[in-house]
Amino acid sequence: MAVPARKTSKTKKRMRRGHIKLTTPNLSPCPNCGELRASHRVCPNCGFYNGKQIINTGNNN
Ligand SMILES: [Zn+2]
Repeated sequence: MAVPARKTSKTKKRMRRGHIKLTTPNLSPCPNCGELRASHRVCPNCGFYNGKQIINTGNNN
């Protein structure tokens, strides 16, 4: 149920938001070039995914 903003104290608001924080992304080294990349994503450095060239990045290793 909606509660007016001024009825929620600073403490209550901050206690509720205590869990909300930025997390570091899980990075793993690329099997092709060794650069850190997010898992299940095309490598931004070499453009490889699942052992195949997906995008042409222009920097050949
Ligand atoms: Zn790579």
